[in-house]
Amino acid sequence: MPEIESQQIEEGEAETFAFQAEIAQLMSLIINTFYSNKEIFLRELISNSSDALDKIRYESLTDPSKLDSGKDLYIQIIPNKEQNTLTIVDTGVGMTKADLVNNLGTIAKSGTKAFMEALQAGADISMIGQFGVGFYSAYLVADKVTVMSKHNDDEAYIWESSAGGSFTIRPLTGEQLSRGTRITLHMKEDQAEYLEEKRLKEVVKKHSQFIGYPISLLVQKQRDKEVSDDEEEEEKKEEDKDEEKDKPKVEDLDEDEDDDSKKDKKKKKTIKENYTEFEELNKTKPLWTRNPDDISQEEYGEFYKSLTNDWEDHLAVKHFSVEGQLEFRALLFVPKRAPFDLFENRKKRNNIKLYVRRVFIMDNCEDLIPEYLNFIRGVVDSEDLPLNISREMLQQSKILKVIRKNLVKKCMELFDDIAEDKDNYKKFYEQFGKNLKLGMHEDTTNRKKLADFLRYHTSTSGDEMSSLKEYVSRMKENQKDIYYITGESREAVQNSAFVERVKKRGFEVLYMVDPIDEYAVQQLKEYDGKTLVCVTKEGLQLPEDEEEKKRFEEAKAELEGLCKVMKEILDKKVEKVVVSNRLVSSPCCIVTSQYGWSANMERIMKAQALRDTSTMGYMAAKKHLEINPDHQIIRSLSEKVKADKNDKSVKDLVMLLFETSLLASGFSLEDNVTHSARIYRMIKLGLGIDDDDSAMATDDGAGGDTSEEMPPLEGDDDDASKMEEVD
Ligand code: ADP
Repeated sequence: MPEIESQQIEEGEAETFAFQAEIAQLMSLIINTFYSNKEIFLRELISNSSDALDKIRYESLTDPSKLDSGKDLYIQIIPNKEQNTLTIVDTGVGMTKADLVNNLGTIAKSGTKAFMEALQAGADISMIGQFGVGFYSAYLVADKVTVMSKHNDDEAYIWESSAGGSFTIRPLTGEQLSRGTRITLHMKEDQAEYLEEKRLKEVVKKHSQFIGYPISLLVQKQRDKEVSDDEEEEEKKEEDKDEEKDKPKVEDLDEDEDDDSKKDKKKKKTIKENYTEFEELNKTKPLWTRNPDDISQEEYGEFYKSLTNDWEDHLAVKHFSVEGQLEFRALLFVPKRAPFDLFENRKKRNNIKLYVRRVFIMDNCEDLIPEYLNFIRGVVDSEDLPLNISREMLQQSKILKVIRKNLVKKCMELFDDIAEDKDNYKKFYEQFGKNLKLGMHEDTTNRKKLADFLRYHTSTSGDEMSSLKEYVSRMKENQKDIYYITGESREAVQNSAFVERVKKRGFEVLYMVDPIDEYAVQQLKEYDGKTLVCVTKEGLQLPEDEEEKKRFEEAKAELEGLCKVMKEILDKKVEKVVVSNRLVSSPCCIVTSQYGWSANMERIMKAQALRDTSTMGYMAAKKHLEINPDHQIIRSLSEKVKADKNDKSVKDLVMLLFETSLLASGFSLEDNVTHSARIYRMIKLGLGIDDDDSAMATDDGAGGDTSEEMPPLEGDDDDASKMEEVD
């Protein structure tokens, strides 16, 4: 393929396609944004070439005939000053016609939009590779791009576009092309620097030195040549002819020597001869095969960036080898930031590259690392796996299982390393805390270890987050359990009635306000021998002294009647009504049974729009109403019930208390309208408005104020006067 010369190419009829709207938008953004760091285009194109080479190499492991179209896997960079073009050639997998149409213009990826949004939010164009749209960075330096490509399964085609919303595809006829892709950039006038040897070498060294295939640059060279006088003229003519050709040719040195020997007898003269030659730019040994002691942090940083397309250095790295029954080397990196699509479902992440004895095998081997660690980037190079291993075989492979176990272990060490520096750990936790929590849920073996990495705000920790270990170290002498609350936000939980008593008694409460906390804590259950107790669930036992216990027992006996009446009124709405020891200033609260959903979980589940609603019924939080024996409202209500169990106003009051505490406890109401109506009635009572007052009959409807619009309430209309008495 690199042997093609453009003049020779006969081209078939062109078809024109419109770029998908978002892609067109992205392209004009790339073209029109003022941006000086344009050199990254080369990194992106080389990275695409490297991916294409990976693909064909992987295919060839199971089907060697795939390389019949060319065994050598390489990348070439060919600058041409006369034509003002820069060409990047690879012998990778190539693209079929359909690939060209789809991949380069008509099918937008999620990253297209995400990248434009990121740019608007101040992101840098050099981040483009992370969003999977790196190809278009070619338009940073070129006003026209021509892509010739040949895939084993199709004829060769030429894609071409000068942006402006459309591209063309035409068959490449007349010349037999071997497999691969040849991208020619027709450089913008002011981008000639990227045709300079020195600049190209610099850019490749900076961004692409760790690419696993040879990258060669076509360079101009000069050498002395002895010619006889009469031959000099000939030589000159030859040279001129050479220069006319768009692609310089590599001369054969051996032949020259032969020529020289024949010319010995004639009169000789030394002339300067121009010739071109490919020079390999990335001869560095794969970094992971080197001794860690000899590798600088800068080298790790460069390697990480070339591996990931990240524009920033990594946060932490672990470079290690395992020997013994099985042998492999690995390099694991923790990035500084989570990628924009970390939790995007169905997307296969390809973060750890698998090599076998230095040969790249694949970069999306799911069995290499558990899902919750999918943010770890790196390389694993095994000495034991067979080269031609297929994905299916890998899944069964015992070797891979051992590697995986080791990688996870090393990740834990890596997190420990990060945790040594509090600030760094904070950054890490902000980005990947969710992953650790997912790990709590998924990885039974490492659950204990992972629990050490969790951090939470607590009722006493202020703006700092606290580890469970730190929490335990602060526990009161008589405290047996670790208290926590789950909820929607820190603000919501810290003001909740549930936290009141626990806090008042001097105990610390962990605030778990991430939806995934609900799942993680279900698995955690205990830490350091101490049970994790949810303060919003039934059976919260705060340690108490004898006197308190006695008082509590008395209160329970005294309020037994009220509890019974309330349960009758609320019926199936609650499992039971009990006297509480967790409340200070609220009259009552709703707690949920130990094994059912919490209010927060019910909220999360309701928010999952596509969920099968039939599970809501039996999984929905089982609610217990707890009443505060010291609260004036409860005491008065109890008096009222004692005086007359069948007092009609009791029903209405109990319903109101129940609904209000549902809201205060983080639940949503099933019937907002009835609740509102009850509240309006209360307001009217407070203002001394008679229900029959004709002035109020003209209502906007929303309040449902007129008697006809009023939803039927539990009590009678003339409850009004009685309700007043309570307040
Ligand atoms: P990404 O490489 O991140 O997927 P790009 O916009 O850089 O995104 O490239 C789009 C697609 O075009 C690639 O996924 C690949 O399928 C195809 N492609 C680009 N360059 C090449 C190449 N040199 N050889 C084969 N396919 C390529």
